Amino acid sequence: MNKPIMKGKVYLMGAGPGDPDLLTVQAVRILRAAEVVLHDHLVAPAILELIPAWTQVRNVGKRCGCEGISQDQIHSLLISAAREGHQVVRLKGGDPLLFGRVGEEMEALARAGIDFEVIPGVTSAMGAAAAAKIPLTDRRFASKLVFVSNHSAGHTATNWEDVISQDATHVVYMPGTNHTEIAAKLSAGGLDGRTPCLIVTHATQPQQQIQRTTLRELALTPRLPAPALLIVGEVARPLPPLQDDEKTSSRRTAEPHEEILHLTDTPAKSEIIV
Ligand code: SAH
Repeated sequence: MNKPIMKGKVYLMGAGPGDPDLLTVQAVRILRAAEVVLHDHLVAPAILELIPAWTQVRNVGKRCGCEGISQDQIHSLLISAAREGHQVVRLKGGDPLLFGRVGEEMEALARAGIDFEVIPGVTSAMGAAAAAKIPLTDRRFASKLVFVSNHSAGHTATNWEDVISQDATHVVYMPGTNHTEIAAKLSAGGLDGRTPCLIVTHATQPQQQIQRTTLRELALTPRLPAPALLIVGEVARPLPPLQDDEKTSSRRTAEPHEEILHLTDTPAKSEIIV
């Protein structure tokens, strides 16, 4: 009997910001069964460790240290591996649909008639905001959330005047090294010099660093190692410090306006919502 022909498929997968616990269950399941993985430079080593030893793995990132691999070559690798009947994962940092070249990859796969699926990931903005405890759309300060890239495809500075607003939180991807230029663009968009700014590098990874500053001071802030994200907006201000009386007693009685919720160990049957 002839062996059944295995149909190849490409998974355009988000690896999240770095902590493997932030991978989706779906991503882990597919990654563990992958025969070929082509990953970006940004994908954290802890994520790559989850790939089985028998899988063919290749770094196709721009900073992989090897001779730069072109976007067309990536398309060819994806298409040929899928045509050979392999389960192929194209692994990208954060979410695959944000600030990458997934659109071009989808078009190439569609043109070649290759079956593909998108597996979402936690974008680095959400990883960084969680790590730094930033309520991105705190209703008292922000009614909009703007994800903006400091680089366009042609690596020229982009114009942001159309998206900057005082009641928005701005997350700048690929901030690069020129903080002076970014501060000037944000100020030109009407933001006050006192607006809090936060730089988070290697969000959710062991070498994570968080630096607080203001728009006025941003230009003077030393450059932190990439990958870094800049969060700008009132929501990035520090949380209030613990009050003195709270520091001394961890258990206290309720104030007149407070209610204490007593949780029992085992909820009554009628309380369980199925
Ligand atoms: N698809 C990715 C973004 C790719 S663009 C996502 O959804 O996150 C690459 C930029 O993402 C980097 O220059 C940096 O600004 C940001 N980035 C990715 N991972 C990061 C991390 N762990 N910590 C901080 N910034 C990160």
